[in-house]
Amino acid sequence: MKQSKVLIIGSGAAGYTAAIYAARAALKPVLVRGMQPGGQLTITTDVENYPGFADPIQGPWLMEQMEAQARHVGTEIIDDLIISCDLSKRPFVCKGDSGTEYVGETLIIATGASARWLGLPSEQKFQNFGVSACATCDGFFFRNKKVAVIGGGNSAVEEALYLSNIASEVTLIHRRDSLRAEKIAQDRLFSKPNVKVIWDSVVEEFVGTENPTSLTGLRLKNLKTGEEKVHSCDGAFVAIGHQPNTELFKGQLDMHENEYLKVKPGTTSTNVPGVFAAGDVQDFIYRQAVTAAGTGCMAALEADRFLAEHA
Ligand code: NAP
Repeated sequence: MKQSKVLIIGSGAAGYTAAIYAARAALKPVLVRGMQPGGQLTITTDVENYPGFADPIQGPWLMEQMEAQARHVGTEIIDDLIISCDLSKRPFVCKGDSGTEYVGETLIIATGASARWLGLPSEQKFQNFGVSACATCDGFFFRNKKVAVIGGGNSAVEEALYLSNIASEVTLIHRRDSLRAEKIAQDRLFSKPNVKVIWDSVVEEFVGTENPTSLTGLRLKNLKTGEEKVHSCDGAFVAIGHQPNTELFKGQLDMHENEYLKVKPGTTSTNVPGVFAAGDVQDFIYRQAVTAAGTGCMAALEADRFLAEHA
């Protein structure tokens, strides 16, 4: 059994920042890293929008630095996967896959969200070689090039709008004949001269070169006519939604309809006193490393205040 004043689940920008602040407040936090140590930033390459670095840095490197910083100030970091949590009473008890029980007087949930992928083998092959799930992270590399965005929701339209200011041509590929995105976003998109839409179509395969590994196009299938064709492009952005990692908390914490955790506006407090949520697990609007770090800081400060009030 592992006991702590502050138990943190998740090791992305939110989790590590919460750990840094909690450790510096002498709360001796325990952080359980989960399945993807370092979180979503470990699947991106160049990061140019995290403040403090004049030159581009690598996402995995940034997360190594955050981890090292969290350790240096006194966080205990444990490789384990939390498989259940009991939030019905304090202290909160979470069980790890290893069999260890983690007991926290407060709990900071920073389990993030995972980008949904199409699940094609060729998609994995070209990830970071033309295939991405984040236009703000990787769009820059497609200046004056041809890109495609897959999806028809708000995320896809936002990604396409963002890319339309960078790429020479943006093609939105959607499996139906109408978009799910808000009307105002659609109007904005359709007014862009360098954006076109391919309707009723799905990606059957990401195609490209082997040596070097580089995407050159998408093999598409029209679901109405059955027709197949290769659409040539240099980059493809999969924007079919994110799934917050909130499975553990169903029935215990209030969630939005899209399963992101609800927090009291302007705070990281959930509906259970002493349980805080930071980063993408509670944010489906901004989803940036810097906003995740910001809410991680807030969660640690709130946990500290909560402990002082409940001493
Ligand atoms: P979403 O609304 O669930 O849309 C996902 C899109 O991807 C849908 O158009 C869906 O097609 C398509 N899709 C799903 N699986 C697919 C597959 N296997 N193959 C091809 N296409 C597939 O997700 P989202 O756009 O990420 O938005 C998530 C939530 O965040 C929404 O509530 C959204 O409103 C919100 N959001 C808000 C903002 C904002 O307010 N600024 C920005 C971004 C997101 P179908 O339409 O056919 O189902």
